[in-house]
Amino acid sequence: MLIVGAGPAGASAAHYLAQLGEQVLLVDKAVFPRDKICGDGLTPAAVNELSLMGVDTSSWMRNKGLQVVGGGNDIKFPWPEQTSLPGYGMARARMDLDHDLVRHAQKSGATLLEGVTVNELITRHDGRVVGARGTRGRGKDTERLEFRARLVADAGGVSARLATGAGRTALTNRPMAVAARTYFTSPLGDTDWMVSHLELWDGKPGESNLLPGYGWIFPLGNGLVNVGLGSVSSTKTATKLPYKQIFEAWTANLPAEWGFVPENQQGPLRSAALPMCFNRQPLYADGLVITGDAAGLISPFNGEGIAPALAAGRMLAQTYASACVRPTEHGFDLAMEGYQTALKQQLGGYYSLGRIFVKLIEKPEIMRLCTRYGLPRRHLMKLVHKLLSDGYERHGGDISDRIIQLLTKVVPSA
Ligand SMILES: Cc1cc2nc3c(=O)[nH]c(=O)nc-3n(C[C@H](O)[C@H](O)[C@H](O)COP(=O)(O)OP(=O)(O)OC[C@H]3O[C@@H](n4cnc5c(N)ncnc54)[C@H](O)[C@@H]3O)c2cc1C
Repeated sequence: MLIVGAGPAGASAAHYLAQLGEQVLLVDKAVFPRDKICGDGLTPAAVNELSLMGVDTSSWMRNKGLQVVGGGNDIKFPWPEQTSLPGYGMARARMDLDHDLVRHAQKSGATLLEGVTVNELITRHDGRVVGARGTRGRGKDTERLEFRARLVADAGGVSARLATGAGRTALTNRPMAVAARTYFTSPLGDTDWMVSHLELWDGKPGESNLLPGYGWIFPLGNGLVNVGLGSVSSTKTATKLPYKQIFEAWTANLPAEWGFVPENQQGPLRSAALPMCFNRQPLYADGLVITGDAAGLISPFNGEGIAPALAAGRMLAQTYASACVRPTEHGFDLAMEGYQTALKQQLGGYYSLGRIFVKLIEKPEIMRLCTRYGLPRRHLMKLVHKLLSDGYERHGGDISDRIIQLLTKVVPSA
């Protein structure tokens, strides 16, 4: 199998495939370690996926939960210890996380090819994908490469070049967010809580203008924090905000002792899009499978894409292993359809709820009411916390788990 893109989705699929004894070639245009614009936050769902992969996270920065600031409230919501999820989250700079993941996939037996950009699919006379072409190097030194494979995976992130080339364009009715982040050295770097600011003000909080969007401060350890903000739209047309200006206005109003000043900034403020709610479908057809951001697997509730990417890689590998034993192409295709079924069983109803959620919160007045009156209600927020972080039990659990399970079943799958 050929996997294009060695981010969390590609590395996870490669690791599991290699473990299952499949031959897997993982190709990336970058050379690792490489950076990726991200908040670097890992919820318990992501921690769980990493533990299933057997990644050693013992030295990584852990956090106790989410501290939510907004509507005059400042409340801490600890990650609950649950049957299916651990009671802690983590944060790890993507420069390190993704490097760890590709090395892990290699150790499991996957072959990694770095510095190769895959530009186009190779198709058979009937349109079926049978490989891909790529290039290495530049100018007159450009080397052209060709790969043949029974299955090609586009795990190339938001650009989804191969999926787009195959006509799997982004659905216009799925939410899309844009977010920007940078790093600061700060005394908050070694604190225990991932902080989320639901209101951004251009002056004194409560007495100035409310800006659209939400902000985060995620401690990474060693005196470093990832600080960012984003906004979400319920359609493919993402909101076009002056992120730099809003970021400057927001951080200027945060306590001076946190140190969010240019002298402490580590690297530029960089932004990227977050495709959500299965915004490219089908996930499998005619020899091409899509995963991670290329398939729009980011959660509309919180912008989390690492956990779904890792889970999708796991499900993709399992499906491929069972498809491979089918002697006919028809049987192979039928078995591969199970990948979309499995992912939608896990996330389909949940993401449909998320689409409703985004439609509500993109109206600032509703967002304001929710933060002001919802946040102080402990029981309600226990449920909301689980909902926003994909932290609910799929089976059993307490009353809030059961309410979410019920809600995800009454909506059509995303
Ligand atoms: C500002 C911001 C903040 C975020 N914060 C969080 C967060 O805190 N927690 C969280 O869980 N998620 C967060 N996300 C989402 C998360 O970053 C993504 O969902 C996640 O990286 C998806 O993983 P992936 O493997 O699908 O794609 P990527 O991580 O984008 O990896 C894709 C890989 O494919 C390679 N590639 C692309 N095209 C080609 C090609 N043509 N040929 C060869 N290689 C190619 C790239 O070099 C890259 O290595 C955030 C996103 C943004 C933009």
